[in-house]
Amino acid sequence: MIVCKTKEDVRAIIQPWLREGISLGAVPTMGALHEGHLSLLGVAQQQCQRTVASLYVNPLQFAPHEDFGTYPRTVEADAAILERRGCDVLFAPEPSTFFATDFSTRVLVEDVTQAYCGKARPHFFEGVATTVTKLLMILSPSVAVFGEKDYQQLVTIKRLVRDMDIPVTIIGAPTVREKDGLALSSRNQYLTGTERACAPKLFEILHIASDKIAKGGDTPAQVNAWAKAQLLSAGFTKVDYCELADADNLKPLDKADRPGRLLAAAWLGKTRLIDNIAVKAV
Ligand code: AMP
Repeated sequence: MIVCKTKEDVRAIIQPWLREGISLGAVPTMGALHEGHLSLLGVAQQQCQRTVASLYVNPLQFAPHEDFGTYPRTVEADAAILERRGCDVLFAPEPSTFFATDFSTRVLVEDVTQAYCGKARPHFFEGVATTVTKLLMILSPSVAVFGEKDYQQLVTIKRLVRDMDIPVTIIGAPTVREKDGLALSSRNQYLTGTERACAPKLFEILHIASDKIAKGGDTPAQVNAWAKAQLLSAGFTKVDYCELADADNLKPLDKADRPGRLLAAAWLGKTRLIDNIAVKAV
């Protein structure tokens, strides 16, 4: 695996491949890699002749009170795992070289970023869209793979790429879970023993709620309210949202007459977990 720390170095590796018509799949990550990230690499490897993974804890997507300073950084272990899994290039830019000191551009995707995580974390999607745009411009991949785990982020990136005619195909990969259903996340390591025991309830409740909506007895609004109450009584300390959205454009759905996605974010102490599940049209 070739490790590149600057944009110039990674371009020097990739550009000759692109000129030869070799397809490139990109997997952007913030590191602290787990099997969820590696499943994205697997998808990129199936789709493309070469793969590039990026490790970059994106400062633009954290608010001042969030965990940028303490976010797990395990670059050497991550590099070893990527190499074992056959990744061709690792792009791990130094923060000081990734953004110019007078960097002054922001990418704002409207509409799909307003609700859900956008409400709870107003800075977040602009930070994601700005950095993902830069990564796509630097790497010029034919395919980039993102997880359905961060469903609103996936929809936002698809919208960004469509609106700006960025020549890349965005693929969404299914969420990888622990045996008890908890979605793998670099932030799961923040959970205390008691919180970890409670955490799988998030997906369990989403699963039941999705079945309830698909059966058609209760309205989405009733099921959303039921799920929020269930999360609080299961031990979650706060629920940011639990809503049924149109799976394509994330508009709230008051009837399950189109493919939907039930999206939720809830807190266990100081840790915020997000998850989501598909809901079939009734
Ligand atoms: P992160 O490092 O958390 O920014 O995530 C990098 C990429 O991995 C994003 O596209 C995430 O959606 C994806 N990802 C994170 N957790 C999982 C998971 N459990 N299953 C599948 N993809 C995931």
